[in-house]
Amino acid sequence: MQFYSNPIPSSWSALQQRAAAGEAPQVAARVRAIFGQVREQGDAALLTLAAELDKASLTSLLVSEAEFTAALAQVPADLQAAIRQAQANIEAFHAAQREPELRVETMPGVFCSRRAVPVQRVGLYVPGGSAPLFSTLLMLGVPARLAGCPQVVVCTPPQSDGTVSPVILFVARLLGISTVVKAGGAQAVAALALGTASVPAVDKIFGPGNRYVTAAKQLAAAEFGVAIDMPAGPSEVLVIADETANPVFVAADLLSQAEHGPDSQVVVLSTSAAMLEQVQAETTRQLATLPRRDVAALALENSRAILLPDVAAMLAFSNQYAPEHLILATDNAEALAAQVTNAGSVFLGHLTPEAVGDYASGTNHTLPTSGYARQYSGVSLDSFIRKITFQRLSATGLRALGPVVETMAEAEGLAAHARAVTLRLASLATSDEDSSAVGAAAAANPYAGLIRPSVERMQAYSSARDEFEGMAPVMLDANENSLGSVGPDDFSRYPDPHQRAIKVELARLKGMAPNQIFLGNGSDEAIDLLVRLTCTPGGDDHIVICPPTYGMYEVAANLNDVRVERLLLTSDFQLPANAAEVLAASTAKLVFLCSPNNPTGNLLAQQALETILRTFKGLVVVDEAYADFADAPSWTTRLEEFPRLVVLQTFSKAWGLAGLRLGVAYAAPALIAYLDKIKPPYNISAATQQHALAALATAPSLDQMRDELLAGRQDLARQLPQLPGVAKVFPSEANFLLVRFNTDATAVYDQLRARGIVVRNRTTQPGCAGCLRLTVGTAVENEQLLQALTEIGRGPAG
Ligand SMILES: *Cc1c(COP(=O)(O)O)cnc(C)c1O
Repeated sequence: MQFYSNPIPSSWSALQQRAAAGEAPQVAARVRAIFGQVREQGDAALLTLAAELDKASLTSLLVSEAEFTAALAQVPADLQAAIRQAQANIEAFHAAQREPELRVETMPGVFCSRRAVPVQRVGLYVPGGSAPLFSTLLMLGVPARLAGCPQVVVCTPPQSDGTVSPVILFVARLLGISTVVKAGGAQAVAALALGTASVPAVDKIFGPGNRYVTAAKQLAAAEFGVAIDMPAGPSEVLVIADETANPVFVAADLLSQAEHGPDSQVVVLSTSAAMLEQVQAETTRQLATLPRRDVAALALENSRAILLPDVAAMLAFSNQYAPEHLILATDNAEALAAQVTNAGSVFLGHLTPEAVGDYASGTNHTLPTSGYARQYSGVSLDSFIRKITFQRLSATGLRALGPVVETMAEAEGLAAHARAVTLRLASLATSDEDSSAVGAAAAANPYAGLIRPSVERMQAYSSARDEFEGMAPVMLDANENSLGSVGPDDFSRYPDPHQRAIKVELARLKGMAPNQIFLGNGSDEAIDLLVRLTCTPGGDDHIVICPPTYGMYEVAANLNDVRVERLLLTSDFQLPANAAEVLAASTAKLVFLCSPNNPTGNLLAQQALETILRTFKGLVVVDEAYADFADAPSWTTRLEEFPRLVVLQTFSKAWGLAGLRLGVAYAAPALIAYLDKIKPPYNISAATQQHALAALATAPSLDQMRDELLAGRQDLARQLPQLPGVAKVFPSEANFLLVRFNTDATAVYDQLRARGIVVRNRTTQPGCAGCLRLTVGTAVENEQLLQALTEIGRGPAG
C-alpha cells in the first residue's frame, strides 16, 4: 500500500488515477477481427473460438435440457437456500422500483402519459472460467425478469470439459431463463450483437467481463446499434475510516476488493495516522491466509492509504474520485451519506461490508467504475425498460393548444408543422356547425361518455340458458349433472340467470317494471359493477364519495384501481352547500350518496340531491339500504325523470335476510341492460332465488317487523342520552343509532365486547370522533345493551 500524508488538493487527481486506463490497441484490433469472424461464420466461429480460447470442444452451443437437469443435482442444498434468499432480497428491492403509469392533463383536453415498456431482447454476459460469477446472473436476471423482457439470452464461457458451471445453470432455471449459450469473451458479445443461427441478436447487452469483453461491448455500441449497460473498468472501493473504524473490518473489506483481480482499485482515507497504520498491519496479516493472496497482493501494490485533515476533506476526495463502492466506516455514517454526491453504491456503518451488496442485500452489484459514477447509475429495473410517452388531444385540447403550436412553428419557419394543426382546427370549426346535432344526440343518449369503452365494445357472456325461457323435458345444454337431483331442494340445475320470477314480484310490490331491476349478490355486487361499468381502471376515470359513509364504495374503487374524490359531509352530516356546484364541474363518472346514510343514520336533504341529479353529468347512485326505516319517499319514484339515477336497495336490512346476499339496483332499462351485460352469468344462486320468492310472497308481514324495530329505535334514542358517558345520540332514520361518547369510545367498545356485546367502532371516520354505531336489536338485546352501557359508564364498582 502506498501512503500519502495530507496531500494538497491540487495533487488529488493524480492519486485518483485508475490503473488500466486506456485500452491497448491490439485488444481493439483483436476484437474487431473476432466480430468479422462471427459475422462471416456464425456458429462455426463460436465453436472454433471455444476450442481455441476456452480449450473446450463443443458439439452444441446451447445448454441442453439434460444439462440443466444434471446441474440441479450438483448444487449443494445450503448454496441453493442462500441463492434463494439473495434472489428474494434482490427481487424485493427491484420490484419496489416499478413506477405506475404517469398521466397528466397538462391543460384542459391535452392528455400526456408515460408508460414503462421492457427492452424486448436482452443479452446477459456472465463471466465463467476460473470463477463462475453466478451472482452476476442474479443481479442481471432478476431485474430483466421483473421488467418483463420477452427475450433473455445468457452467454457464459464453457469450462474446458465443455460444460457450464452448474450453479449458473441452477440460477438460470430459478429465473426461468432457458437460453444459455456456451460462449465467452468478445465472440459472445459479437454473437449477441450480430446474431447467429443459435444466438438471437439482442437490443442491449449487460454484464462485466475482461478487457476483450469490455472492448467488444464498446464496439457493439459504437458500430452495431446495440446498447450496453455502462462502460466498464476494474472494480474498486474507497473506504472512509475515521477513528471510530475497526481496522480489522476495514482490512477485510480492502482485501475483498483486492481479490477480484490484480487491477482492482483500493483506496482508504482516514483522519487518523494510527488507524491507517493498523489497517496496513491488519491487511498484511489477513492477506497471508487468503487463497487468492497472489492476486490480492498485486492489487494492493497500486492501492492507496491517504491521511486527510478532516471529514470534509475525505468527503471531497471521495466525491471527486466517484468510487464504484464507498464504505463509510464511521459512527455517523448516515450523516456523511447525505453528503455523498458521486458513488455507485454506499455501505453505511461498521456492520455493512461491501460483500453484502455484492451478493444479497438487495441492491444491484453491477455498478459504474472508473469514475463513471459521476454520470451513470448502477444497473436497476430502469436499465431494462424504456419509458414511452403518449399524448392525445380532445377537441377542447386542440382548440386551446393548436394556436400555440402554430405560432411556434411559424416562428421556426416550419410551415408543414403549422399546417398539420391548422387543417385540424379548420375541420373542428366545420363540425362545430353541426354540433347542435351532436348536442341532440348527447341528450338522446344520457350515458354518452359514461360507459367504459371496453364494455361498449365487448360481447356479453351468453350462458346456455340465455337462448330460451323455461325448461324442456330434456336439458343437456349446460353440463349439469342431473344424476345429482336428490332431496327436497333440487340444486342440480343452474338457476335462472335473469331471475325473472323475482323481478316480476318485486316490480309488482314496488310499482315498477321488471326491466328497471337488477339483482346483485348483495348490493355490494351492484356497487362493484357500477364502478366497473363506468370507470376504466388505472386511468383518469374516478368516482366521488361523501364521507363519513359506507366503506364499500371506496373499496370497490380501490379494487378496480379507480381514483376516489371525497366530498366531506358537514358536521350535521349533510352535503356541503357547494356540493352540486362541485359535482357539476367534476368529470367524475359517478357519485355514491347514501340516504339514510351509514353510519350517521340521517337522510340527505332532498333539495340537494335534486340539484345534483339535474346538473351532474355522471351516474348518481342513491344507496337506500335503510330506506324502509325512513319516513321519506324512495328515490325510485324519480327514475323516469332522471335517466342517470340508480337506486340501491337490499334484502339485508328491513327484510331481515342479510344471509341471502340479495341486493337490488333500480334504474332506467338501458342502464339495467348494461349491468346485465357485465354481471357474472348466474350471480344469484338457486337457493337465494327460492328464498327470495318465498319472502316476497309474505312481504306484508314486514310491516310488523319494521314497526317493532322503529319502536326499539325510539326507546334507545330516548334512554341512551340519560346514560353516563353519552354525549350525543344522532337522529336516525335507519335501524341503528350513531352515538357520541364524551369518554374514550374505543374503551367503551372494548368493554362492551368483553361483555359479549359487539357494536361498530366508527371513531376513525371523518366527523365521527368518539362515535360508536349501535344496531337496533330485539327488545331483550336492546335492554342488555343499555344495561351494559350503564355499568360501563358508572366505572369499576367500589
Ligand atoms: C348494509 C348496507 C348495504 C348492503 O349491502 P348488501 O351487500 O346488500 O348486504 C349496502 N349499502 C349500505 C349503505 C349498507 O349499509
